Formats: sequence, C-alpha cells, structure tokens
Amino acid sequence: MAIQKTEGILLRRQDLRETSLILTFYTRDFGKIKGIVRGVRGPRSACGGANMEIFALDEIVFYERRRSDIFTISQCDLIDFFAPVRGSLDKLSYASYFVELIDSVTALGDKNPEAFDLLLNSLKLLSGDCSTKRVARIFEIKLLHLLGLMPSLDECASCGGPVDPAAKFSLRHGGLICRKCFQSDRDARPILQGTVNFIEHIRPLPFERVARVKVASEVGRELERMLRKFLDFHIERRLKSVQFLKVIEK
Ligand SMILES: [Zn+2]
Repeated sequence: MAIQKTEGILLRRQDLRETSLILTFYTRDFGKIKGIVRGVRGPRSACGGANMEIFALDEIVFYERRRSDIFTISQCDLIDFFAPVRGSLDKLSYASYFVELIDSVTALGDKNPEAFDLLLNSLKLLSGDCSTKRVARIFEIKLLHLLGLMPSLDECASCGGPVDPAAKFSLRHGGLICRKCFQSDRDARPILQGTVNFIEHIRPLPFERVARVKVASEVGRELERMLRKFLDFHIERRLKSVQFLKVIEK
C-alpha cells in the first residue's frame, strides 16, 4: 500500500509508550483505520493538539507497516474541531455517543462512505441550534438503516403477515409483530403510530431535509426508549456514553 491521504473523524485515542499515540479514525475512503502517531507526547510537543481530540475531523496521511494492520500516520491536519459542540456538555455527550456507537458497530477496514457522511453531517447539525435529541434520533435511525439492522415496520417481523395499528414492537423479532404472533414474545410492547410514521419518514429522507422534521414530544420520548433498547439489544457491548447520557439527563 502506497502512502494514502483521506479525511477521518477521530473515534478513539490510546497512549502508546512515552511519546506515541494509537489513533482510531473513521474515514470516508478506507472505513475504520488504526494508526500510530509518533513524537506527540514528548516534553516539547503538547499531548497532541486539537487535531487529536475525539471527533475532530482531520486530513490524515498514512502508510502501511509490515505485518501489521496498524498503520503509521505521518500527518494529521485539523479540518474541523466542531468548537460549538465542545462548548456544551449536552452536545459533547451526544457527539461522544455518536463516535462510540460508530466504533462499536464497525470493523477495521469496513468501508461505508454513507456512514461516514452520516457521522460528519450529524456533528455539523449538532454544531448548530437543532435539538440534540432530534439529531440523536436521526443519527440512530439512519445508522440502523445503513447497517441493515432497521426494525421491520411494514410487515410482521415474525410471520411476514400484515400489521395493523394494534401491532406491538418486539425486540426479539426486530420489529412489529401482528396479533397472531403476540404470544411468541410476551415482552413485546404497544407502540405509537406516530413513532412508526416518524421512522418511516426519516429513513429515506436526504440529510439536508431531516433537521426540519418536527416530532411530537411523546413520540420523541418513545423513540428514545425504543431505539436505545433496540441498539442495546443488537450491540453486545453496552456503550459507556449511553450510561453517561442517562446520568446527566436525570
Ligand atoms: Zn405475525
């Protein structure tokens, strides 16, 4: 592999020995990559700069190391620091949740430019005055869709039959289930039609238009509960940032 240049959003940083860091980036062109940056923690250089803060957007130059899936990052220039996000604990917590979620659902080298754009657009939207909860629900719905994990809402997730407004939401089956299938999951719960409509509406909508979509507060609350349970169920590792969001929202 020759020297490569791409844009990446920093997902994670780990210390490595005295003066080096291992950075994990989510990039548009190569998916998730890990790379070593040397000489960033010596007495003469600050402990990385703004470019090495979590969820910074950088232009990075990297190349392959022999017998290793960890690259060497030779250059890492800041494109966007998302300063407005860092000035608010609420926004900062959501941005941390977004990168942790992306990190937990992607494998090294899994390329998905749409997921990269989703993360980038969500960070930009978070920088503006859009409600953080709305950005989070949009991010979750679109990410589930891109990963092919979207709950089935237009037919019964158990038998494939038609669903009506009495259908319940089943985590185990991954979507709505019809009356005939209620007994197959006693934990299935009723769901507001508004919640189903919101998900169906958001899913195919281009990102530029989703920020303006209004959501009723009871739908917003149900979506939040449902999507978190759904993500928890599908992502084995429970996300640390979700625990933190629960604490600050109490
Ligand atoms: Zn059914």
